[in-house]
Amino acid sequence: MMAACRARLDHRADDASRMPGMLGALLLATLSSPTATAGLLLANAHLVDPATKSITLAHVHIEGAKVVEISTELPPRFDGETIDLQGRYLIPGLVDAHVHSGWNRGPIGAPDEELGIEETARRMLIAGVTAYLDLGSHANRIFPVRDEQRLGKSTLAADIYAAGPVFVSIGRPGAGNGPIIVQTRMEARRELDRLAAKHPDVIKVVFDWARERRTMDEEVMRALVGHAQELHLKTVVHIGTWENARLAVDAGATAITHLDDTAEFPEALAEAMAAKHVFSIPTMAVQQDFLDVLEDHRLLDNPLLRLVAGEDLLNGYRALDSTEYADCPTCRWQREGRKYYGASLSRLAHAGVPIVAGSDSGNLGTFQGFSLHRELILLHQWGLSIWDALAAGTSRAYELLGLNMGFSPGADATFLVLSASPLDDIANTQRIERILFHGQWVDRTALVTRH
Ligand SMILES: [Zn+2]
Repeated sequence: MMAACRARLDHRADDASRMPGMLGALLLATLSSPTATAGLLLANAHLVDPATKSITLAHVHIEGAKVVEISTELPPRFDGETIDLQGRYLIPGLVDAHVHSGWNRGPIGAPDEELGIEETARRMLIAGVTAYLDLGSHANRIFPVRDEQRLGKSTLAADIYAAGPVFVSIGRPGAGNGPIIVQTRMEARRELDRLAAKHPDVIKVVFDWARERRTMDEEVMRALVGHAQELHLKTVVHIGTWENARLAVDAGATAITHLDDTAEFPEALAEAMAAKHVFSIPTMAVQQDFLDVLEDHRLLDNPLLRLVAGEDLLNGYRALDSTEYADCPTCRWQREGRKYYGASLSRLAHAGVPIVAGSDSGNLGTFQGFSLHRELILLHQWGLSIWDALAAGTSRAYELLGLNMGFSPGADATFLVLSASPLDDIANTQRIERILFHGQWVDRTALVTRH
């Protein structure tokens, strides 16, 4: 993985314009919900359930922010609000498990679209990505926004999970606003203890030997992963080579992210990952989509993309001349990777490795919110079944993050209403009619007009 995941040094403050606490109001409404017979009934929906790979015409009874019951028979009497979905498709909220919040990366030679963390989270929600995992942002920027969200104090936006800054061994030690630089086992333990006080949802370790300079030695990676286990923290290890992946899996990593773009996934490693239930977050969007956009500018006219990305940014990408950039470094490694991704993804899926969708948005050729849908398409294109690709963006991601979501009593009532079945075409995850978020309908139009 050559270009993704560069931690960015950006001193500008987030655009922290805030609306009154909508989530707080929502929380109160939930707590004061008095009767068992009120609530919301989503009737006559095709439930698309990636966890069980099944599609069922049924009714979903919701109280407050939770699912109460799924039934194939309509209740004889229902005092709450009934919405007849007339056979439309209901899928649990999507998750992007590899994000860098704050901006959309501009094309080569053009400025970024600055968003800030809260606007990133809003655009995610507009795109139906109801939760995301930030895998590399400054602790003082990402954790306060996440923590306000969890207290119900912030604007309506996708739920943020976050690693905080990444751990790496190269760079300038003590540089205040970037990754956490640790070069010895002792530093690794000390800095991890310090970060743990901020309650990161996972730890991100950059363990990459694909370039000339190794980002971290094996013993430091092992110290971080081992100490994270002692602290009951999950680890996501960025890898550059399959050897990095093998060592991270052996050390006890929860997940590895990215693919080696110079070789097929080794079969023995896929088996080891499956046996230890180590997650893979392959990040196909960041590994492919700059080249995909360059080769076919029509991608930039996608209606969902135009809803969540600024027109200036998209025009910058439209202005790229594919012949001029045919030999750019990113194009070269993305082209090289195409030789291996099919075999690697098929091997991972076939071995039973839990695969989670993550776009690595914030990087070149990716777009916050939209690229998760691209990720699902690319996972399918490179060898996953549609069910496995949908699971990567839902049930597998819930498993990684420990979320209670889906079609079962007690689960979070967060669903997308789709006008067409994603089983007919996985791109139909983009055909979002409505979003139910923690039991409340999202006014997407109001969110969109904010940018
Ligand atoms: Zn990344």
